[in-house]
Amino acid sequence: MQDYKKEAEGLIKGRILFNVPMRKYTSLKVGGPADCLFFPKDMNELKKVVLTARRKGIPLFILGKGTNLIVRDGGIRGWVVSLTQGMRRIQVDREFMEAEAGCSLQQLVQSSIQRSLTGLEPFFGIPGTVGGGLAMNAGAWGAELKDVVHSITVMKEDGTVIERTRSRLRFSYRNLAIPSAWIIVKARFHLSPGNKEEILERVKSFSERRKKTQPIDYPSAGSVFKNPNEGPAGKWIDEVGLKGIRLGQAMVSERHANFIINCGKATADDILRLIEWVEQKVYEVKSISLEREVKVVGEA
Ligand SMILES: Cc1cc2nc3c(=O)[nH]c(=O)nc-3n(C[C@H](O)[C@H](O)[C@H](O)COP(=O)(O)OP(=O)(O)OC[C@H]3O[C@@H](n4cnc5c(N)ncnc54)[C@H](O)[C@@H]3O)c2cc1C
Repeated sequence: MQDYKKEAEGLIKGRILFNVPMRKYTSLKVGGPADCLFFPKDMNELKKVVLTARRKGIPLFILGKGTNLIVRDGGIRGWVVSLTQGMRRIQVDREFMEAEAGCSLQQLVQSSIQRSLTGLEPFFGIPGTVGGGLAMNAGAWGAELKDVVHSITVMKEDGTVIERTRSRLRFSYRNLAIPSAWIIVKARFHLSPGNKEEILERVKSFSERRKKTQPIDYPSAGSVFKNPNEGPAGKWIDEVGLKGIRLGQAMVSERHANFIINCGKATADDILRLIEWVEQKVYEVKSISLEREVKVVGEA
Protein backbone atom coordinates (compact mmCIF):
# COMPACT_ATOMS: atom_id res chain seq x y z
CA MET A 1 0.00 0.00 0.00
CA GLN A 2 1.26 3.48 -0.88
CA ASP A 3 2.50 5.60 2.02
CA TYR A 4 0.37 8.69 1.50
CA LYS A 5 1.69 10.26 4.70
CA LYS A 6 5.36 10.17 3.74
CA GLU A 7 4.62 11.99 0.49
CA ALA A 8 2.74 14.69 2.44
CA GLU A 9 5.23 15.58 5.15
CA GLY A 10 6.63 19.10 4.75
CA LEU A 11 4.96 19.63 1.37
CA ILE A 12 3.36 22.94 2.38
CA LYS A 13 3.69 25.52 5.17
CA GLY A 14 -0.04 25.30 5.91
CA ARG A 15 -1.19 22.70 8.45
CA ILE A 16 -1.15 19.01 7.57
CA LEU A 17 -2.91 16.54 9.85
CA PHE A 18 -2.48 12.78 9.76
CA ASN A 19 -4.99 10.05 10.63
CA VAL A 20 -7.54 12.69 11.39
CA PRO A 21 -11.04 11.50 12.38
CA MET A 22 -13.42 12.99 9.85
CA ARG A 23 -16.19 13.15 12.43
CA LYS A 24 -14.38 16.27 13.65
CA TYR A 25 -14.76 17.86 10.23
CA THR A 26 -18.34 16.94 9.32
CA SER A 27 -21.56 18.43 10.69
CA LEU A 28 -23.08 14.94 11.18
CA LYS A 29 -20.14 14.05 13.44
CA VAL A 30 -19.51 10.66 11.86
CA GLY A 31 -16.68 9.30 9.76
CA GLY A 32 -13.40 7.42 10.16
CA PRO A 33 -9.89 8.81 9.69
CA ALA A 34 -8.50 10.51 6.62
CA ASP A 35 -4.86 9.63 5.94
CA CYS A 36 -3.87 13.27 5.45
CA LEU A 37 -5.73 16.53 5.67
CA PHE A 38 -4.10 19.61 4.13
CA PHE A 39 -4.92 23.25 4.82
CA PRO A 40 -3.06 25.15 2.07
CA LYS A 41 -2.40 28.82 2.82
CA ASP A 42 -2.87 30.04 -0.72
CA MET A 43 -3.23 29.10 -4.36
CA ASN A 44 0.48 28.22 -4.73
CA GLU A 45 0.31 25.74 -1.88
CA LEU A 46 -2.91 24.26 -3.26
CA LYS A 47 -1.21 23.85 -6.63
CA LYS A 48 1.69 22.02 -4.98
CA VAL A 49 -0.73 19.56 -3.35
CA VAL A 50 -2.71 19.06 -6.57
CA LEU A 51 0.35 18.48 -8.74
CA THR A 52 2.07 16.17 -6.25
CA ALA A 53 -1.07 14.09 -5.82
CA ARG A 54 -1.41 13.80 -9.58
CA ARG A 55 2.25 12.88 -10.12
CA LYS A 56 2.17 10.22 -7.40
CA GLY A 57 -1.31 8.90 -8.27
CA ILE A 58 -2.72 9.82 -4.85
CA PRO A 59 -6.52 10.19 -4.64
CA LEU A 60 -7.53 13.75 -3.70
CA PHE A 61 -10.79 14.79 -2.09
CA ILE A 62 -11.84 18.39 -1.60
CA LEU A 63 -13.64 19.10 1.63
CA GLY A 64 -15.68 22.21 2.42
CA LYS A 65 -17.17 22.42 5.90
CA GLY A 66 -18.45 18.85 5.59
CA THR A 67 -22.08 19.92 6.01
CA ASN A 68 -23.46 17.90 3.14
CA LEU A 69 -21.24 14.93 3.64
CA ILE A 70 -21.27 11.43 5.09
CA VAL A 71 -17.80 9.97 5.49
CA ARG A 72 -17.98 6.20 5.99
CA ASP A 73 -16.53 4.65 9.15
CA GLY A 74 -13.38 3.33 7.45
CA GLY A 75 -12.32 6.89 6.57
CA ILE A 76 -10.66 8.30 3.48
CA ARG A 77 -7.56 6.81 1.83
CA GLY A 78 -5.41 9.41 0.16
CA TRP A 79 -5.36 13.15 0.62
CA VAL A 80 -8.11 15.51 1.72
CA VAL A 81 -7.78 19.25 1.12
CA SER A 82 -9.59 21.98 2.99
CA LEU A 83 -9.46 25.63 1.95
CA THR A 84 -11.16 26.80 5.16
CA GLN A 85 -8.04 28.01 6.97
CA GLY A 86 -5.92 29.61 4.27
CA MET A 87 -8.25 30.56 1.43
CA ARG A 88 -11.16 32.56 2.75
CA ARG A 89 -10.56 36.18 1.77
CA ILE A 90 -13.34 38.42 0.55
CA GLN A 91 -12.94 41.49 -1.66
CA VAL A 92 -15.65 43.92 -2.62
CA ASP A 93 -15.70 46.09 -5.73
CA ARG A 94 -18.92 48.14 -5.99
CA GLU A 95 -21.72 45.55 -6.31
CA PHE A 96 -19.34 42.66 -6.97
CA MET A 97 -18.09 40.47 -4.14
CA GLU A 98 -15.23 38.08 -4.74
CA ALA A 99 -14.75 35.33 -2.17
CA GLU A 100 -12.21 32.56 -1.89
CA ALA A 101 -13.79 29.13 -1.79
CA GLY A 102 -12.90 28.35 1.83
CA CYS A 103 -14.85 31.35 3.11
CA SER A 104 -18.07 30.40 4.87
CA LEU A 105 -21.41 31.37 3.36
CA GLN A 106 -22.13 32.97 6.72
CA GLN A 107 -19.10 35.29 6.39
CA LEU A 108 -20.10 36.08 2.82
CA VAL A 109 -23.64 37.09 3.82
CA GLN A 110 -22.32 39.13 6.75
CA SER A 111 -19.92 41.05 4.47
CA SER A 112 -22.74 41.77 2.05
CA ILE A 113 -24.84 43.16 4.92
CA GLN A 114 -21.98 45.43 6.03
CA ARG A 115 -21.81 46.87 2.50
CA SER A 116 -25.60 47.16 2.17
CA LEU A 117 -25.59 44.76 -0.77
CA THR A 118 -28.66 42.63 -1.34
CA GLY A 119 -29.08 39.19 -2.95
CA LEU A 120 -27.45 36.82 -0.47
CA GLU A 121 -30.01 36.97 2.37
CA PRO A 122 -31.67 33.56 1.67
CA PHE A 123 -28.33 31.82 2.16
CA PHE A 124 -27.86 33.03 5.71
CA GLY A 125 -27.85 29.94 7.91
CA ILE A 126 -26.58 27.49 5.29
CA PRO A 127 -23.53 26.22 7.20
CA GLY A 128 -21.21 25.45 4.24
CA THR A 129 -18.41 27.20 2.39
CA VAL A 130 -18.53 29.19 -0.82
CA GLY A 131 -16.84 26.28 -2.65
CA GLY A 132 -19.15 23.61 -1.24
CA GLY A 133 -22.15 25.87 -1.74
CA LEU A 134 -21.37 26.35 -5.41
CA ALA A 135 -20.49 22.70 -5.99
CA MET A 136 -23.93 21.85 -4.55
CA ASN A 137 -25.73 24.90 -5.98
CA ALA A 138 -27.02 25.42 -2.45
CA GLY A 139 -30.36 27.11 -2.09
CA ALA A 140 -33.11 28.09 0.26
CA TRP A 141 -36.46 29.87 0.20
CA GLY A 142 -36.71 29.73 -3.59
CA ALA A 143 -33.20 31.10 -4.27
CA GLU A 144 -30.10 29.25 -5.46
CA LEU A 145 -26.47 30.39 -5.47
CA LYS A 146 -26.51 30.23 -9.27
CA ASP A 147 -28.88 33.25 -9.21
CA VAL A 148 -26.21 35.54 -7.77
CA VAL A 149 -22.95 34.07 -9.03
CA HIS A 150 -21.21 35.99 -11.79
CA SER A 151 -18.27 33.64 -12.34
CA ILE A 152 -16.22 30.95 -10.67
CA THR A 153 -12.50 30.26 -10.81
CA VAL A 154 -11.32 26.66 -10.70
CA MET A 155 -8.00 24.87 -10.45
CA LYS A 156 -7.76 21.95 -12.83
CA GLU A 157 -5.86 18.73 -12.14
CA ASP A 158 -2.78 20.06 -14.00
CA GLY A 159 -2.67 23.10 -11.69
CA THR A 160 -3.94 25.59 -14.28
CA VAL A 161 -6.51 28.10 -13.15
CA ILE A 162 -9.43 29.21 -15.32
CA GLU A 163 -12.41 31.46 -14.83
CA ARG A 164 -15.87 30.53 -16.11
CA THR A 165 -18.75 32.99 -16.24
CA ARG A 166 -22.22 31.83 -15.27
CA SER A 167 -23.43 31.48 -18.86
CA ARG A 168 -20.77 28.79 -19.35
CA LEU A 169 -21.63 26.85 -16.18
CA ARG A 170 -24.22 24.08 -15.99
CA PHE A 171 -26.03 24.53 -12.69
CA SER A 172 -29.09 22.47 -11.84
CA TYR A 173 -31.00 21.60 -8.69
CA ARG A 174 -28.30 21.03 -5.99
CA ASN A 175 -25.64 20.41 -8.59
CA LEU A 176 -22.95 22.07 -10.66
CA ALA A 177 -21.70 19.93 -13.53
CA ILE A 178 -17.90 20.33 -13.55
CA PRO A 179 -15.24 17.61 -13.87
CA SER A 180 -14.76 15.87 -10.51
CA ALA A 181 -11.05 16.82 -10.35
CA TRP A 182 -11.71 20.56 -10.63
CA ILE A 183 -11.43 22.57 -7.42
CA ILE A 184 -13.40 25.78 -7.06
CA VAL A 185 -10.90 28.31 -5.69
CA LYS A 186 -12.93 31.51 -5.78
CA ALA A 187 -16.14 33.03 -7.02
CA ARG A 188 -17.50 36.41 -7.94
CA PHE A 189 -21.04 37.35 -6.96
CA HIS A 190 -23.11 40.09 -8.54
CA LEU A 191 -25.33 41.77 -5.97
CA SER A 192 -27.43 44.94 -5.91
CA PRO A 193 -27.25 48.01 -3.70
CA GLY A 194 -29.92 47.83 -1.01
CA ASN A 195 -31.15 49.26 2.25
CA LYS A 196 -29.25 47.85 5.24
CA GLU A 197 -32.23 47.73 7.58
CA GLU A 198 -34.38 45.93 5.02
CA ILE A 199 -31.57 43.47 4.33
CA LEU A 200 -31.21 42.77 8.06
CA GLU A 201 -34.97 42.33 8.38
CA ARG A 202 -34.96 39.69 5.60
CA VAL A 203 -31.98 37.88 7.14
CA LYS A 204 -33.75 37.81 10.50
CA SER A 205 -36.95 36.45 9.00
CA PHE A 206 -35.12 33.67 7.08
CA SER A 207 -33.18 32.80 10.19
CA GLU A 208 -36.32 32.50 12.31
CA ARG A 209 -38.02 30.31 9.70
CA ARG A 210 -34.96 28.06 9.68
CA LYS A 211 -34.96 27.72 13.47
CA LYS A 212 -38.64 26.79 13.47
CA THR A 213 -38.47 24.19 10.71
CA GLN A 214 -35.03 22.55 11.08
CA PRO A 215 -33.47 20.49 13.88
CA ILE A 216 -30.50 22.83 14.18
CA ASP A 217 -29.67 21.69 17.74
CA TYR A 218 -28.57 18.24 16.55
CA PRO A 219 -25.74 17.16 14.25
CA SER A 220 -27.07 16.59 10.73
CA ALA A 221 -26.07 17.02 7.09
CA GLY A 222 -29.10 19.11 6.17
CA SER A 223 -31.61 17.60 3.74
CA VAL A 224 -30.69 14.01 3.04
CA PHE A 225 -32.73 13.72 -0.17
CA LYS A 226 -33.46 16.03 -3.07
CA ASN A 227 -37.11 16.93 -3.40
CA PRO A 228 -38.56 14.69 -6.13
CA ASN A 229 -40.95 16.07 -8.79
CA GLU A 230 -43.85 14.62 -6.79
CA GLY A 231 -43.27 17.06 -3.86
CA PRO A 232 -41.06 17.62 -0.81
CA ALA A 233 -39.12 14.51 0.27
CA GLY A 234 -39.92 15.27 3.93
CA LYS A 235 -43.66 15.05 3.24
CA TRP A 236 -43.37 11.52 1.78
CA ILE A 237 -41.09 10.34 4.60
CA ASP A 238 -43.60 11.70 7.11
CA GLU A 239 -46.56 10.11 5.29
CA VAL A 240 -45.00 6.64 5.34
CA GLY A 241 -44.67 6.98 9.12
CA LEU A 242 -40.91 7.27 9.47
CA LYS A 243 -40.68 10.56 11.38
CA GLY A 244 -38.87 9.88 14.66
CA ILE A 245 -37.78 6.37 13.62
CA ARG A 246 -34.40 5.35 15.07
CA LEU A 247 -31.65 2.99 14.05
CA GLY A 248 -28.83 2.82 16.56
CA GLN A 249 -28.07 6.45 17.37
CA ALA A 250 -29.39 7.76 14.04
CA MET A 251 -32.88 9.18 13.87
CA VAL A 252 -35.25 10.67 11.30
CA SER A 253 -35.85 14.12 12.78
CA GLU A 254 -39.27 14.74 14.28
CA ARG A 255 -39.05 18.39 13.30
CA HIS A 256 -38.14 17.84 9.62
CA ALA A 257 -38.42 14.34 8.18
CA ASN A 258 -35.85 15.02 5.46
CA PHE A 259 -33.16 15.48 8.14
CA ILE A 260 -31.41 12.52 9.77
CA ILE A 261 -29.84 13.49 13.05
CA ASN A 262 -27.07 12.01 15.13
CA CYS A 263 -28.49 11.49 18.62
CA GLY A 264 -25.06 11.11 20.17
CA LYS A 265 -22.75 8.35 19.09
CA ALA A 266 -24.17 7.35 15.69
CA THR A 267 -21.83 5.71 13.21
CA ALA A 268 -21.86 6.40 9.49
CA ASP A 269 -23.17 2.85 9.15
CA ASP A 270 -26.20 3.68 11.35
CA ILE A 271 -26.92 6.74 9.23
CA LEU A 272 -26.52 4.92 5.91
CA ARG A 273 -28.71 1.98 6.99
CA LEU A 274 -31.40 4.41 8.09
CA ILE A 275 -31.17 6.20 4.74
CA GLU A 276 -31.65 2.86 2.95
CA TRP A 277 -34.62 2.04 5.17
CA VAL A 278 -36.25 5.39 4.26
CA GLU A 279 -35.55 4.88 0.55
CA GLN A 280 -37.07 1.40 0.59
CA LYS A 281 -40.17 2.34 2.55
CA VAL A 282 -40.95 5.44 0.46
CA TYR A 283 -40.52 3.37 -2.69
CA GLU A 284 -42.67 0.47 -1.40
CA VAL A 285 -45.53 2.65 -0.18
CA LYS A 286 -45.44 5.62 -2.57
CA SER A 287 -43.54 4.26 -5.60
CA ILE A 288 -41.25 7.29 -5.36
CA SER A 289 -37.47 6.86 -5.77
CA LEU A 290 -35.72 9.33 -3.52
CA GLU A 291 -32.41 10.66 -4.81
CA ARG A 292 -29.72 11.46 -2.24
CA GLU A 293 -28.61 15.05 -1.86
CA VAL A 294 -25.87 14.19 0.65
CA LYS A 295 -22.54 13.02 -0.72
CA VAL A 296 -21.14 9.76 0.63
CA VAL A 297 -17.38 9.21 0.58
CA GLY A 298 -14.72 6.95 2.07
CA GLU A 299 -14.38 3.27 2.93
CA ALA A 300 -16.88 1.17 4.87
C1 LIG B 1 -28.27 22.37 9.54
C2 LIG B 1 -28.02 22.36 8.05
C3 LIG B 1 -28.83 23.13 7.22
C4 LIG B 1 -28.62 23.13 5.85
N1 LIG B 1 -29.42 23.90 5.06
C5 LIG B 1 -29.24 23.90 3.73
C6 LIG B 1 -30.08 24.69 2.88
O1 LIG B 1 -30.95 25.41 3.33
N2 LIG B 1 -29.86 24.64 1.53
C7 LIG B 1 -28.87 23.87 0.99
O2 LIG B 1 -28.71 23.87 -0.24
N3 LIG B 1 -28.08 23.11 1.77
C8 LIG B 1 -28.22 23.11 3.11
N4 LIG B 1 -27.41 22.34 3.90
C9 LIG B 1 -26.38 21.47 3.26
C10 LIG B 1 -25.00 22.12 3.11
O3 LIG B 1 -24.77 23.10 4.10
C11 LIG B 1 -24.80 22.75 1.73
O4 LIG B 1 -24.94 21.80 0.71
C12 LIG B 1 -23.42 23.40 1.63
O5 LIG B 1 -23.39 24.18 0.50
C13 LIG B 1 -22.27 22.38 1.59
O6 LIG B 1 -21.07 23.11 1.72
P1 LIG B 1 -19.80 22.49 2.44
O7 LIG B 1 -18.73 23.50 2.36
O8 LIG B 1 -20.13 22.00 3.79
O9 LIG B 1 -19.47 21.28 1.46
P2 LIG B 1 -19.06 19.78 1.86
O10 LIG B 1 -20.19 19.13 2.56
O11 LIG B 1 -17.75 19.78 2.54
O12 LIG B 1 -18.90 19.15 0.41
C14 LIG B 1 -20.03 18.94 -0.40
C15 LIG B 1 -19.55 18.58 -1.83
O13 LIG B 1 -18.94 19.74 -2.39
C16 LIG B 1 -17.61 19.43 -2.83
N5 LIG B 1 -16.79 20.63 -2.62
C17 LIG B 1 -16.59 21.30 -1.45
N6 LIG B 1 -15.77 22.33 -1.66
C18 LIG B 1 -15.43 22.32 -2.97
C19 LIG B 1 -14.59 23.12 -3.79
N7 LIG B 1 -13.90 24.18 -3.31
N8 LIG B 1 -14.46 22.81 -5.12
C20 LIG B 1 -15.14 21.74 -5.62
N9 LIG B 1 -15.94 20.94 -4.89
C21 LIG B 1 -16.08 21.23 -3.59
C22 LIG B 1 -17.17 18.27 -1.95
O14 LIG B 1 -16.13 17.52 -2.56
C23 LIG B 1 -18.47 17.49 -1.83
O15 LIG B 1 -18.68 16.69 -2.97
C24 LIG B 1 -27.59 22.34 5.28
C25 LIG B 1 -26.77 21.57 6.13
C26 LIG B 1 -26.98 21.58 7.50
C27 LIG B 1 -26.08 20.76 8.38
